[in-house]
Amino acid sequence: MFRWHAGRKVAGIPLWGKRHRTLVNALACALTVGFSAGFVVWEEPPTPATDLLWMANGVLLAYLLLAPRRRWAMYLAAGLTGQWICASLVNHGWVVNLPEVLLNIAEVLVSALLLKARSRDLPDFTRLQYQLRFLGMAVLAGPAVAGLFFGLYSQLFLGGRLPSDWMRWIAADGLGTAVMTPACVALFRSGLKLPNPAHRAWIYWLLLVAGTVIAFQQSAWPPSALIYPLLVLMLLAMGMAWAALGALFVTIAGSYLTTSNRHLFGGVAAYADHPAVRLQILVVSAIFTLYCISIVLERQAAAERTLSEIAALHGLVTENSRDLIILAGMDGQRSYVSGAAQSVAGWLPEELVRYNSVELVHPDDRMRVGEALGRLKAGKEGELVEYRMLRREGTYFWVEASLRLIRDSMTGKPKGVLNLARDISRRKQAEQELREAYAAIEALAVTDPLTRLANRRRFDQYLSTEWRRALREVQPLSLLLVDVDHFKSYNDTYGHLRGDSCLKQIAEAALDVVTRPGDLVARFGGEEFAVILPNTNSDGAEEIAHQLCEEVKRRKLTHASSATGWVTVSVGCATMVPIQGQPAHQLVQRADEALYEAKGQGRDRVVAAGSQAPELIVQQAS
Ligand code: GH3
Ligand code: MG
Ligand code: MG
Repeated sequence: MFRWHAGRKVAGIPLWGKRHRTLVNALACALTVGFSAGFVVWEEPPTPATDLLWMANGVLLAYLLLAPRRRWAMYLAAGLTGQWICASLVNHGWVVNLPEVLLNIAEVLVSALLLKARSRDLPDFTRLQYQLRFLGMAVLAGPAVAGLFFGLYSQLFLGGRLPSDWMRWIAADGLGTAVMTPACVALFRSGLKLPNPAHRAWIYWLLLVAGTVIAFQQSAWPPSALIYPLLVLMLLAMGMAWAALGALFVTIAGSYLTTSNRHLFGGVAAYADHPAVRLQILVVSAIFTLYCISIVLERQAAAERTLSEIAALHGLVTENSRDLIILAGMDGQRSYVSGAAQSVAGWLPEELVRYNSVELVHPDDRMRVGEALGRLKAGKEGELVEYRMLRREGTYFWVEASLRLIRDSMTGKPKGVLNLARDISRRKQAEQELREAYAAIEALAVTDPLTRLANRRRFDQYLSTEWRRALREVQPLSLLLVDVDHFKSYNDTYGHLRGDSCLKQIAEAALDVVTRPGDLVARFGGEEFAVILPNTNSDGAEEIAHQLCEEVKRRKLTHASSATGWVTVSVGCATMVPIQGQPAHQLVQRADEALYEAKGQGRDRVVAAGSQAPELIVQQAS
């Protein structure tokens, strides 16, 4: 169980010790308890100094507190044996000592049972709650119970007096337990770890030994006050185990010097003024000073551990986040940039921290970022803003920045902005590609694949839009319907492929003639085309229609089975200023009627709807 006994310190028999660990522990227990018991019996006849400090019980209690309950009987037996042998060798004889030894063992058992009654935890003297329980159960209750029996025994059989013997027992055992148990627990559990650097340790011991000897050697000047700061110094520098040993040293050395009458504590008078009692008071106050400070230190260390765990966790998250984390004050000056700066933007964090919040933002996006920051300054808690940020190599990339206002935890006033910036270049590129693909699909949906003109669907949309606009603006809207003459026979003569290419040529001719941005040339169906001419009166529309006929003829597309010998078109024109309630297809209908009229009149001409005398176009001389 205790490496301190079984492995390291029992020199020469480490292997044997390991194999018979329980036996070694029991032997060690018997020896240490016996040694402590034989150590303090100095005076005859007994005075308060006789029972100045009873350490054996404290040692045995430490064994019990650290051992599982099934080993208690073994340690109690070992303690009893060691104590009985040593006490009997030093003092009186075997039979006389037995009742006291048994009472001591009973006291330890009572204390251990009381302490372990509620919890099976190992002793922890750095917890205030445990210390209070320890004081109540092991320092007061245990000794009080055993001491009462001793007082009765002493009164009945030894000629002593119950009250004073009881008090002496409580003082000696309580004090011994208070000093020894925490020291032994600290020793058994942690061993004596030396401070860092270790070579300074001897200085504290030197100071303590010198301080103790000086303090106890003379009574004129009371340098005993030195002892507290020296013990506290040891506690701070070397920990509770060493400080408890220091206190033990003071107790033993003080006991020796006090009982040798070279003492600090004046002359012998009443019981309460006895030098031994004064020494007890000094030791009690010293050991409790150590307890208190060790609690404070442990709490502080625990808080520091928690803090550093939290800091480590934060560091882990921030430094391994793929998002760039930036902290800046309300003036835009940065105070922290996470390690992701390098992978995200090529900057070292220490470089990026030197720029303010907007310096590396693309000039076109600065206003947007500035506005978002402005809203935060005005008290808004969060903002999401997309902007382009400069890479170290000089190019820009898109980031999505989630900005959060940081408030002072005490005053609640805004004190900075937390920026979690994420590289969204890929998303932006995908969005762009998607937009382009969508636009291409949309264009395809309204384009005639053969001529690349707007298709019928687009024509219908556009006509409806322009019709409404013309209605609003009270403007004329003209429509030309163009039909290729004798195209069936063209196909029959030259085949459909030539027919297709002829249709493309006519489409080009129409696009050459129709140049205004608002005009739309569409394939209306088969070999029919339509031209929408917004804000164009009938004269203008006819003019365009004539130009279209001429342009087709100018291209000299041979048509052997046509009377003219060339491909010609007939055009029906219609112009209307829409009035409320009139549907747009009336315009189409009128243009269609005009076209029908043009066909009826012999083709290769323009007919405007509503015109009484259809205008004949000049026959092109072949
Ligand atoms: P009209 O002068 O009276 O207009 O005589 P037409 O032969 O042009 O008469 P119609 O309108 O009845 O004939 C249309 C012909 O156009 C029928 C079809 O062979 C041809 N056509 C329609 N669409 C296409 C096309 O996409 N490609 C080709 N090559 N021919 C087409
Ligand atoms: Mg036709
Ligand atoms: Mg035709």
